[in-house]
Amino acid sequence: MVECWFMSLKHDLHSHSTASDGTLSPRELVQRAHEAGVDVLALTDHDTLSGIAEAAKEAGELGLVLVPGVEISVSWGGQTVHVLGLNVDPGAPGLQQGLARLQEYRGWRAEEIGRRLEKAGIPGSFEGARALVKGTLVGRTHFARFLVQAGHAGDVREVFRHFLVKGKPGHVRGEWASLEEALEWIADAGGIAVVAHPARYRMTRSKLRRLLGEFSELGGMGLEVVSGSHSRDECFTMARHARDFGLLASAGSDYHGPENPWLNLGQLPELPHGCSPVWTRFNMETDGTVLSNTSG
Ligand code: AMP
Ligand code: MN
Ligand code: MN
Ligand code: MN
Repeated sequence: MVECWFMSLKHDLHSHSTASDGTLSPRELVQRAHEAGVDVLALTDHDTLSGIAEAAKEAGELGLVLVPGVEISVSWGGQTVHVLGLNVDPGAPGLQQGLARLQEYRGWRAEEIGRRLEKAGIPGSFEGARALVKGTLVGRTHFARFLVQAGHAGDVREVFRHFLVKGKPGHVRGEWASLEEALEWIADAGGIAVVAHPARYRMTRSKLRRLLGEFSELGGMGLEVVSGSHSRDECFTMARHARDFGLLASAGSDYHGPENPWLNLGQLPELPHGCSPVWTRFNMETDGTVLSNTSG
């Protein structure tokens, strides 16, 4: 591996803004990353690129590198899996069209969650969730925040547990992109595909390895080995899977805002020994401009 000048920079390659279910605007998020000493930040909102222009502008002013990214919702193996597209061209038509379809589905799903919760005796949750949205995209997190405010649960996690997951009244089965589609859209946009927070899917080891096998067959290149939601043991397990499948290792906090004070931007452990960092493929100018990704 070639040692690059940017190897020692602080990277955080997974974060959310108000463009999806984060609570800081893209501008505020970049300011916060700068304060936290992050040198390279990827904005990876759920199924949308709409925060990137604002984030990139602020990053340019503060002198940090903004990696344009997206976290694509994928249906695979009867469950939802998240695939990050890192260093994508936000203007790529294939990616934009694909995300437009997911946004449309999200719009329908939000209304459907509202209808189901209404049947379960909780009226007005669609309107309540929508009122908390600052971008255009309604997610389950907005429902969770509304239900907490309305006194139906003590915190967001409890809402998920009692209302929004499989078997609960507000659950709607995801109909997201196929793995193949997500990888095509990311490739179309010149990006690097990374399986997000692999330890969070409650998959058996063999199912996870089936996912990683298909993912790399389809051209996927990276695994989020270090995640704000991974224990240290999980990081080491994922580092071994990355090595076995020849995947690059990524690291990201999955920051959603200051409401979760135990998780900050850039506060991540080092990648385990032997990992090939995904950022070695970012082709950056010495002034911090991200140009493209190198394939070799
Ligand atoms: P959605 O893509 O709208 O289905 O929402 C997924 C998002 O909900 C994730 O990105 C998290 O931000 C949040 N989320 C999922 N599960 C939980 C949970 N158990 N507790 C808190 N937040 C969760
Ligand atoms: Mn989220
Ligand atoms: Mn995710
Ligand atoms: Mn995320």
